[in-house]
Amino acid sequence: MSAAPAEETRTFRAPGRVNLIGEHTDYNLGFVLPIALELETRIRTTPSPDGQLHIHSAARDETRSWPLADVSSLRPQGHWSDYVIGVAQQLIQRGFDIPALHLHVESTVPEGAGLSSSAALEVASALAFLQGRDLDRLEIARLCQRAESDFVGMPCGIMDQYCSLFGQEGAATKLDCRSLESEAVPLPENAAFLAVNSMVKHSLGQSAYRTRVEECAEASKALGITSLRDAKLDSVLATPMPETVRKRAIHIVTENRRVEEFAAASRAGDLASMGHLFRRSHRSMSQDYAISCPEIDFLVDAAVAIPGCYGARMTGGGFGGCTVNLVASGAVKGFSEAIREAYRKARGIDPQVIACVPARGAGEIQ
Ligand code: ADP
Ligand code: MG
Repeated sequence: MSAAPAEETRTFRAPGRVNLIGEHTDYNLGFVLPIALELETRIRTTPSPDGQLHIHSAARDETRSWPLADVSSLRPQGHWSDYVIGVAQQLIQRGFDIPALHLHVESTVPEGAGLSSSAALEVASALAFLQGRDLDRLEIARLCQRAESDFVGMPCGIMDQYCSLFGQEGAATKLDCRSLESEAVPLPENAAFLAVNSMVKHSLGQSAYRTRVEECAEASKALGITSLRDAKLDSVLATPMPETVRKRAIHIVTENRRVEEFAAASRAGDLASMGHLFRRSHRSMSQDYAISCPEIDFLVDAAVAIPGCYGARMTGGGFGGCTVNLVASGAVKGFSEAIREAYRKARGIDPQVIACVPARGAGEIQ
């Protein structure tokens, strides 16, 4: 499928996301509850008269260029452009050609903060390469996920790419990562979700993520099932397996349950229960899944001591990045000031506080 030669400037956008609850459950084919954010990655495309593909990241002030004929055989370089090339190769395998373009990448999604700048970059790249050619959104989500897992080498689930494409204004999306069916979950009007960026990312993160994926596979094997989605807590507790692996499975089983309970509490406007589930989720991530770190634990403990905060938890892959906090609408300003002050005092770092307002999924900017 060929694109008409690009003659004009076009701009495509894809949002980052914050996951409210359901952490590391996506690659275990369970449940997640993300919202797409107003923070987004934009790619402006212009024709490339020299017939090459050029990709420029404004954040890096760096450009990479390749002859079009080389794109299908490039190997991963451990470079940011891998995310874009991985998507290009997936599209080529799907029968689309890659037009000669300049891609100018600009983003307001902080990188490595657990708000999925990677999926935002992948999805915006897919739309940029497609140049309006039709491809089912679920297909786009799947091929962007494959780009990240197979080309970049990060064995991620489908949540980030799905949310970037299917985000909706005014609601969270509860996604079943096995059936890929989703439903909108309304959020209480008298409270806000705030992400607090710890501004740290520990290098342990990537390798620990892979280890968690392997530990979950080991637990499934011990239980005689294909994914932890089908695990029952009783069997997890009774079946012989290494204790570390058991703890990982306990997190996944209880976290899936918490997603269901959180969605029900949100529908009922039950802020106290939502906050309680945030705290339990964080404890489970910290103790059983072992993906938190001192900076994040500090932010969670400090947050729940601030008046008007119902609960807090780490969000994203772990080992740094952001917490997500449920705060009474009237307390947002006071909370933001208090958490910044507490973190500055304790760690000497000014954390970024981000209002998480549900935004719509990716598309072209007209
Ligand atoms: P997260 O998705 O939580 O932000 P990841 O580690 O999954 O963290 O993805 C971050 C990586 O994505 C960056 O290290 C970089 O390689 C790439 N990336 C994201 N946004 C950009 C951008 N605007 N320009 C260049 N690379 C980017
Ligand atoms: Mg990512």
